[in-house]
Parts: sequence; C-alpha cells; structure tokens
Amino acid sequence: MIRMEAVTKRYPDGTVAVDGLSLEIPDRSITVLVGPSGCGKTTTLRMINRMVEPSEGSILLDGADIRQQPVNTLRQSMGYVIQNAGLFPHRTIVDNIATVPRLLGRGRQEARARARDLMERVGLDGSLARRYPYQLSGGQQQRVGVARALASDPPVLLMDEPFSAVDPVVRKGLQDELLRLQEDLGKTIVFVTHDIDEAVKIGTMVAVLRTGGRLAQFAPPAELLSDPADSFVEDFLGADRGIRRLSFFPSDGLDLLTSPVVAADAPAEQIAARTVADLPYLLVTDPEGRPLGWSEPGRLAAGGADAAGAGLLPYGRPFVAGRDSLRAALDCAVLSPTGWAVAVDPDGRVTGVASQQSIGEAIRGAHAAGRPEEPEAVR
Ligand code: ADP
Repeated sequence: MIRMEAVTKRYPDGTVAVDGLSLEIPDRSITVLVGPSGCGKTTTLRMINRMVEPSEGSILLDGADIRQQPVNTLRQSMGYVIQNAGLFPHRTIVDNIATVPRLLGRGRQEARARARDLMERVGLDGSLARRYPYQLSGGQQQRVGVARALASDPPVLLMDEPFSAVDPVVRKGLQDELLRLQEDLGKTIVFVTHDIDEAVKIGTMVAVLRTGGRLAQFAPPAELLSDPADSFVEDFLGADRGIRRLSFFPSDGLDLLTSPVVAADAPAEQIAARTVADLPYLLVTDPEGRPLGWSEPGRLAAGGADAAGAGLLPYGRPFVAGRDSLRAALDCAVLSPTGWAVAVDPDGRVTGVASQQSIGEAIRGAHAAGRPEEPEAVR
C-alpha cells in the first residue's frame, strides 16, 4: 500500500502545490486523483516516484519510507505513463516497449519477445511492431505507452492524464481496455485526470482535490455521487448526479415481462394470447429470439411483420439484463417509442421487456436497500 502522510509541496517560488495531503492508496486497485487544473494532481503523482520531493510529510510504500531506497530501485517498481505517451521517436514500437527490460540487462531477443506479448495485451496488432511512433494513431501510441510502462512488470503504475489527448471515442476504448487489463494484472494504479466522468468510470477510489492541493473528498465513485462532501465536490460532479449514480445499481432484480414477446411468424391465436393490458404493443423477434421491433397486435396478426422487421416500430437500444445497470435500462425505456425497455441476454436474445414504472420501482427499491454495490461497479 502507498500511504501519504501530511505531505506538503512548496515549490521554490513559494507556490504551495500540495498542502497537508494524507491518502491511503489501496493495493491492486485504481485510485484516481481528480480536480481542476493546477490543484496539485501531477505534483502528487510525481512525489510518489520521487520526480518531485515533498517539502514536508512522508510517503510510505508497504510501510517503508520511499526515501529509504535508491531512487532507481523505486522507479523500477513504478511504471509511468504520460499524456501523448512520450515515446522515443527514433525507435520502433517494439524497441520502445523493450527499452526498460534492455536497461535492466535483458537480452535483445528476450526483451523483444516480451514487448510483443505486451503489444497483444494492450490490444495492438503485431504488424505495428516495426513501425515508428509517428506512424501510429494517438490512441495506438497511448497503448504503446501503457505497454512500455508494464514492460518490467512493476507492481505500481502511475498514469498522468494518459488519455487526455485523444478523441472521446478512442478515449472510451482506452478506458475500457485499462479496466480489462487491470482485471488480469491487478496493479496498484494511481491515475490523474481532470475529467470527473473518467474518474467515476475507472476509479475504485477517487480523491477529489481542490486548488491549493487540499483533499476535498476521498471515496468510492458511487459514494461521491450519493454523498458529495461539500458544495465544491457537488459542483465539480456536475449535473445529472442522480442519473449517473444509477450506473452503480445492477439491473438483475428488474421485473421482466415475457408475455408481450412474440416471434414474427407466430400464428394469430398466439398473438392474441400475448396481449398485455397496459401495453398496446408486442415485441416481435426473429426465429432466434433477437428483437426486430414493436407492433400493434392487430397489425401483426394481419401479417404486419416480415423476417427483416419491416413495418415495425424500432425497439431502440436493448440492455443486457444483469450485466448492464439500471441507468442503461432506464435509458432504453426513455428512448423506446413504446416507453418499454427491451432486455436481452449477452447473445442478444430477448429475455423480456420492462416498463418505465417497473424500472422506477427497481430504482426506489435499490435506494431503499442502501448504498449501491461496491467496489465493483456495474457499467
Ligand atoms: P495539476 O496537475 O492539478 O494541474 P500541478 O501539480 O501541475 O497541478 O501544479 C500545482 C500548482 O503548482 C500549480 O499552481 C502550478 O502552477 C504549480 N507548479 C507546478 N510545478 C511547478 C514548479 N516546478 N515550480 C513552481 N510552481 C509549480
């Protein structure tokens, strides 16, 4: 565990970047430092690998002061990833990743083999190995940066705004990839961002800092959203806090109705039997049970649907029952032309439909049951 004890950093010009910060960073989880620009996030991160020395206070790694070991040994135990990846422009991708193992005395072949393994791990195609950084997209370069930081298999990974320079779609992909990678690797990750949505998405614990390097709140994301410590944290979390908190409530307790679900080629008597009192539509599926769209029962009985779903109302975006959150279920219901959400299994087959009312009841039930599940968030 990394433990910061009343750490203060005063730069030579008198700027107090971090002020009396105490934090316990748990092992094998992602701790995010978030806050507005200039609040001391980067300074805090750099004090952990001693690129910046604290003016006061101490930082302990597994109980020992980090000043007790040689700085090189400390840094070998900590991978470091920065914005724009910071790759060596004149080295190929494979040699960029192999840099640290080579410095640590591994043979070229062994280091390159390890680099190729890591490329695969971070989702980079092996065909990119011989390219140079400028021949890669921003998102690919960031993956190389992560692979390079992992090359010596350090227990700690320090990441400073690693995804800030890429567009939102690539950024989401990199975040998902990091979460997947972390499930396999279980590193102790300290991650700096100014983006609260990123913090809430990837953090196991989130430290919100305010200007002057003071800790405003340190809590799991769901708790930040439900109980912001003060108006600064509340403002920083921004609008839709209640809706966003629903991301942490699982959808598996949701009441799903299967009776209004019918195959496109169902006989007329079956269609009549499927009609539900407060739903003037039926959800039509293909023979495999995948959703095609909504239809009024009368139209369907009169041959209103073909196998491609022509003539049906769109079913919107379904949610995966049990895997997706109540936020996803509510979103589906709000977007659905009938007001009902379509639930599917991981293979895309319909498992039932849920009304806005039943989703509302599940939300009330989840609130009444107390806090959402921690630490694993449902996305
Ligand atoms: P953040 O990462 O949250 O944007 P930083 O840790 O980079 O914040 O900076 C915190 C404060 O310290 C800012 O006011 C910044 O201007 C100041 N600062 C950072 N580095 C130095 C330095 N080397 N000398 C003087 N002031 C610095």
